[in-house]
Amino acid sequence: MRRISIFGATGSVGANGVDLIRRAPGDYHVVALTGGRNIARLAQMASDLRAEIAVTAHDELLDDLRAALAGSDVQAAAGEAALLEAAARPADWILSAIVGAAGLAPGLTALAQGGVLALANKESLVCAGALLRDTGARSGATILPVDSEHSAIFQALGTDTLDSVRDVTITASGGAFRDWPLERLAAATVAEASTHPNWAMGQRITIDSASMFNKAMEVIEAKEFFGLDAARIKVLVHPESIIHAMVTHHDGGTIAHLGAPDMRHAIGYALHWPERRPLPVAALDLAALGSLTFRAPDETRWPALRLAREVMAAGGAAGAVFNAAKEQALDDFIAGRIRFTEMAPRVEATLEALSAEPGFAQDPQDLPAVLHWDGLARRKAAR
Ligand code: NAD
Ligand code: MG
Repeated sequence: MRRISIFGATGSVGANGVDLIRRAPGDYHVVALTGGRNIARLAQMASDLRAEIAVTAHDELLDDLRAALAGSDVQAAAGEAALLEAAARPADWILSAIVGAAGLAPGLTALAQGGVLALANKESLVCAGALLRDTGARSGATILPVDSEHSAIFQALGTDTLDSVRDVTITASGGAFRDWPLERLAAATVAEASTHPNWAMGQRITIDSASMFNKAMEVIEAKEFFGLDAARIKVLVHPESIIHAMVTHHDGGTIAHLGAPDMRHAIGYALHWPERRPLPVAALDLAALGSLTFRAPDETRWPALRLAREVMAAGGAAGAVFNAAKEQALDDFIAGRIRFTEMAPRVEATLEALSAEPGFAQDPQDLPAVLHWDGLARRKAAR
């Protein structure tokens, strides 16, 4: 039986992972499931899957979790140290699906055990790509992409090497505001930004899709994951979200990955890799779809895409600063403190201010170094 753990099990990606495990309970021994404030959901998942341990990130919810798990064999734990203890438990496959830089520490701990880390938490690659790769290389762990575009690149590449690749293209739906007149964007509400035309996802990534910060993060994620230089990573707006990514070779051939917008494909691919097994994902009916459309990305509408290129050119701590400033700006937008169109200028100003700090040009070497830049950037962006 394969031992598996899911970090962020109660979220959108995590619950899709739980759904796949639930369909074949005899194949897996569930080690740890973690969540946040939704204790009822976490307890239900953990007892259904007979997990060894369920962990909430919030210390003060330990009693609630214990009560919700009463009568089951599942152990309850809470807080940051408990998350790391759970990540240190040996497992063959771990899904990293916490949202935000909060996923980095458990991800690093999990990687240090070896095994497979199925990485949905793109923030950890953006803020600490080199550290993540080095940690995995030392333990012999494998990192597999779960973000749909990166899973698509991985699959489209197959056994081809980057030498034959001219460039890769990741697609973007364009999010909630792709057709809004530019002058309306400043008045966009949180509710309006929290709807996605094609994907059902957590609120934060949905708003990041409307601002294209999600795609900006994904461009950096592609650079870090595949070791591609920035000039070879392109973004294409594709409103139908059927093509997820394309790999174009020097010989003129382009291999595209297509599929329904259902995260269970990318999660399930990573779960069964290197095999392919049947998954509960609808097959495409291209005749019913009729047509697929494409547009060039507009950097006036989506300044985050330009910022991603600047972050990749700067290197060093820029990724950690970019991610943390973006998280802070998003918090401020959700709380009603800033407008939708103020997020990108906040992030840009934070990058500009912190790029003058000593050590900015060096890759953060360890977790404290990443957290140092993360903290500086959040405080700067909040001012
Ligand atoms: P979500 O908000 O639905 O779920 C987040 C999970 O993380 C929850 O279980 C929550 O309890 C937990 N969490 C939140 N803050 C935490 C903290 N400080 N410490 C510990 N746990 C915490 O998010 P999601 O949409 O499932 O996204 C999860 C990750 O996957 C993100 O990195 C996102 O960018 C990435 N991703 C999501 C999708 C998608 O379809 N939703 C697609 C590709 C990549
Ligand atoms: Mg994606």
